[in-house]
Amino acid sequence: MKTYRIAAIPGDGIGSEVISAGVEALNACAKRDGGFAFAFDHFDWGSERYKKTGAFMPDNGRDLIRKHDAILFGSAGVPDVPDHVTLWGLRLAICQPFDQYANVRPTRILPGIVSPLRNVSGPELDWVIVRENSEGEYAGVGGRVHRGLPEEAATDVSMFTRAGVARIMRFAFALARSRPRKFLTVVTKSNAQRHAMVMWDEIAAEVAREFPDVTWDKMLVDAMTMRMTLKPETLDTIVATNLHADILSDLAAALAGSLGIAPTANLNPERTFPSMFEPIHGSAFDIIGKGIANPIGTFWSSVMMLEHLGEPSAAARLMRAIEKVTADKSLHTPDLGGKARTADVTKAVCDALAGDNQAN
Ligand code: ATP
Repeated sequence: MKTYRIAAIPGDGIGSEVISAGVEALNACAKRDGGFAFAFDHFDWGSERYKKTGAFMPDNGRDLIRKHDAILFGSAGVPDVPDHVTLWGLRLAICQPFDQYANVRPTRILPGIVSPLRNVSGPELDWVIVRENSEGEYAGVGGRVHRGLPEEAATDVSMFTRAGVARIMRFAFALARSRPRKFLTVVTKSNAQRHAMVMWDEIAAEVAREFPDVTWDKMLVDAMTMRMTLKPETLDTIVATNLHADILSDLAAALAGSLGIAPTANLNPERTFPSMFEPIHGSAFDIIGKGIANPIGTFWSSVMMLEHLGEPSAAARLMRAIEKVTADKSLHTPDLGGKARTADVTKAVCDALAGDNQAN
């Protein structure tokens, strides 16, 4: 029997609560399937470690997880460590060297969930946002001079490479092709940013020729926010830069009902390195330790992990279990207006998995 080795990194805040729920659901999934198992290795990397030792992970951290089949990540961030230190010290320190350049964020209104958009339900909002995850505005190029002096100056240079743009466009077009509507929207800002964003548009048009069966259009990022809220049904697959997609996907998560539901996959499509799966929410300090964190974002990220591992039946089964549970309002956590606890939702998903009699 195949055993998948998974590196579990709960990180900070509610990370440990949602990751232990995720591990429980994944084990229940493997048990129901019978064809594979999981071996989890847990890593205590995060802000507490940083405060004690000065580093979020050990020097050889990446070597410890390089050979794992996948990484399950919780969240990173504490109030007394600056956000940029945490982001670059842990999440980006894994994503960038492991070349997880395709960040995939599906958004759907799950059964039983009410969108803040009036009159919008399931079929009208079914998107996948593809975020360029390796360069652009988060390339880390820039610096500060004359610190603390009146003439202080700082730059953050967004860095786009032809190779980086072409590979994310190819990934997005291929993903759009795999979905029923075969429709891609390329988000840009080439009216104001006349160098990198114009190259981004040109490469999109070039790659589009390789995918004649995919229809595509182009949208300025500012106008995109209006289209997402006013005409959600006109969108399907979306590709955007690191910064634009970061912002748009938080909007997407809110429109789909709660930040606590939204999943993401940081993929290294060539599989040279392990890919990383995580809920998109942060550490959520206001609810830490209360046992009410919504684990659905982690469960849905686990579905994406199962798909990546090549277990489509188990992935579909876990997604069915999630949808069965969200459809029952008595199993909604407080972020969805309910009273359920993390443990109730987790048990219900595990029970649904055990009781799922569909063959695939
Ligand atoms: P970050 O900067 O790390 O992304 P943030 O401050 O932007 O974090 P979150 O920590 O995700 O955002 O929290 C935003 C709000 O959403 C908080 O009120 C939090 O309690 C709520 N929230 C986030 N995730 C969950 C979850 N899984 N379950 C319930 N509530 C959540």
